[in-house]
Amino acid sequence: MPVTSFNIMDKHPCYDDNHRSCYGRIHLPVAPKCNIQCGYCDRKYDCVNESRPGVTSKVMTHDQVVDHIKRHNTPVNNIKVIGIAGPGEPLYNPETFKTLKVLDEEFKQFIKCISTNGLLLEDKLEQLIKYNVSAITVTLNTLNSNTAKMIYDYTAGYSYEEFIQKQINGIVNAVNEGVAVKINTVAISSVNLGEIEEIAQFAYEVKATVMNVTSLIPQAKFAGYKKISSKELQYIREVCSKYIKQLYGCSQCRADAVGIPNKI
Ligand code: SF4
Ligand code: SF4
Repeated sequence: MPVTSFNIMDKHPCYDDNHRSCYGRIHLPVAPKCNIQCGYCDRKYDCVNESRPGVTSKVMTHDQVVDHIKRHNTPVNNIKVIGIAGPGEPLYNPETFKTLKVLDEEFKQFIKCISTNGLLLEDKLEQLIKYNVSAITVTLNTLNSNTAKMIYDYTAGYSYEEFIQKQINGIVNAVNEGVAVKINTVAISSVNLGEIEEIAQFAYEVKATVMNVTSLIPQAKFAGYKKISSKELQYIREVCSKYIKQLYGCSQCRADAVGIPNKI
């Protein structure tokens, strides 16, 4: 089980809405490349599974992160979490693991957090555990390969069935290792709205910690799709809350975000 100096659920600003105004996080934009293509992603910008659409973060290297963290670790920022959420797919970039090694050596006191599309999670989990990553967000938009075909243009040479199975394996293995797993789901009208309850049920069954349903930002291949209303989003979250704790305050932080989420 990964080591942190305090309970994640007590201090992580992205696992409990009550903490979004109290505790801070630093995102390190060390991971530029991605291994899949989500239909709603414009690759000129940060990974929109976790980050605000249309924002481009300047990529950093692992030898720049120590100064960066020291500069931003101020009382005002009240940093508890160091996360890697892009600008591409963290687990597809060797720089992520070089950075995690530095973090594990220099910043033991913080929660280490990763956001991923899940494809490589089962393959990289051992390394993540070695570096004491204790919070992992996985974007899981469907459990159905026909729907996956609509959402993803390609999945690194894996079939859509294999892609979903690898996501599931990664999630289950991470939970079994004691990692707090957050499931992110992008609600896409005419595509996966009827499946989100099933994803919530799955998240409950595999003992994920929390679920974050966000609304599609219509862009790239999904530019012509309707963004669901906040009322529809609220309804989906309420249905899902029968199975697993929901987040209501996610503001889709950028890949180089710093500080307390509700204060920047
Ligand atoms: Fe929060 Fe996601 Fe950043 Fe982790 S990677 S600190 S869950 S926004
Ligand atoms: Fe874009 Fe992120 Fe999807 Fe990769 S995983 S295609 S960066 S949204």
